[in-house]
Amino acid sequence: MNGPSPLLCSRCLATLTPGEGSFYVVRIEAVADPTPPSFTEEDLKRDVRAEIERLLRQMRGITEQEAMDQVYRQLTLYLCNACFRVWIEDPARAP
Ligand SMILES: [Zn+2]
Repeated sequence: MNGPSPLLCSRCLATLTPGEGSFYVVRIEAVADPTPPSFTEEDLKRDVRAEIERLLRQMRGITEQEAMDQVYRQLTLYLCNACFRVWIEDPARAP
């Protein structure tokens, strides 16, 4: 097959044709709780260096990309009109 691969609906895999107004592009951005951690008096009395070294040891097992994926994810879905109408009414429903 020549040309770019066809666009498919992320839910029902229907072929989507750009320019016909027959689908939606849904962009999802997910950020882990952005609230800065709060430190208690107790935390500050602990050995901070030991704590940091423990975290670094823990992180050595995962790649930078994996670490990034844990705090930030961005993805794009293509939904045909029929799937979009159902999805948008309850986007947080478990599949
Ligand atoms: Zn669909």
